[in-house]
Amino acid sequence: MINVTKTFLPPQSVYGAILERAWKTGWITNRGELVRELETRLKDYLGLDHIIAMTNGTLPLQIAIKGMGLQGEIITTPFSYVATTSSIVWEGCTPVFVDIDKTYLTIDESLIEAAITPKTTAILATHVFGNPCNVEVIATLAKKHNLKVIYDAAHCFGVRYKGQSILKFGDASTLSFHATKLFHTGEGGALISNEKDLHETLYYHHNFGHKGKEDFQGLGINAKMSELQAAMGLAVLDYIPENIEKRSKIIQLYKEKLEAVSFIEIRPGTEWNNAYFPVIFESEALLLKVLEALKAAEIFPRRYFNPSLEDLPYIDSNNCPISRDIASRIACLPIYESLSIAEVEDICNRINAAL
Ligand SMILES: *Cc1c(COP(=O)(O)O)cnc(C)c1O
Repeated sequence: MINVTKTFLPPQSVYGAILERAWKTGWITNRGELVRELETRLKDYLGLDHIIAMTNGTLPLQIAIKGMGLQGEIITTPFSYVATTSSIVWEGCTPVFVDIDKTYLTIDESLIEAAITPKTTAILATHVFGNPCNVEVIATLAKKHNLKVIYDAAHCFGVRYKGQSILKFGDASTLSFHATKLFHTGEGGALISNEKDLHETLYYHHNFGHKGKEDFQGLGINAKMSELQAAMGLAVLDYIPENIEKRSKIIQLYKEKLEAVSFIEIRPGTEWNNAYFPVIFESEALLLKVLEALKAAEIFPRRYFNPSLEDLPYIDSNNCPISRDIASRIACLPIYESLSIAEVEDICNRINAAL
């Protein structure tokens, strides 16, 4: 069976050697040495001033919204994973959907201004598939209208834009280290803010509001990463550059072999991470035909992202025709380090034959 992804597992001996340290100290949570070491290594690797490791990639979205005191309406993208929207609703705010750009599939910055009302407090957009939003235009709009900017950068591990980490843009960005992501800790994630005071506020929020053992800075929740998760991250991190390279070869091969599908464009100025391989079919009918043909051979792409999020059952729909159209006919093809040339060729042959 071939799934859309296969979790990269480091040699068990490498993971074991790191876990051994937790066994020695008997300390497996509450920001022990492994979590702190992972944060330091991630800051170095990604080129960041601050990062807070967390237990998944959804709580950082909620903590960012809460920590900036956002209320009212938050402008967001309909083309993302459900967590982007659900976090806004969970925090008692109203998502206002702005349609996506058909080339890059990120929020269409030219439509943002028309969606701003006196109740708008922020923009929460996704760098979808690791493809950066138009961060320059969004920064200008945010400044003009006094809005906060949060980026859901769950897909962006290692992505750089115009010479620096994409995580350097906006007031805060979030990463997911879920087992299906390029870099993972089983379950895990991180919250990044480039501004020291905000970083400190968000830090307290993720640990119950604790400021010392018995003092509290304010309201908090528990989003701490455990030592066991951090050990996985430390074991996986060294393999990331090599894995990105291997994925790049797979993507090249797909692009050479596939015939009647289109590929997404990556925004100029981006050093991409090859985390996903989305393809767009001419129609939903053709997509479904291809999925059927692949299913017969036990090959399972994923319809990332379908449905378009304005169609969620708890949303009063805003109409986003481009997102809805793309969502109906896009799928991510299998990509992972150990996928062989023969397997990629087989997938391409089956797709070409079905179309
Ligand atoms: C994976 C993902 C999340 C959620 O991350 P978890 O670690 O699973 O909580 C949020 N947003 C996007 C765009 C994602 O792909």
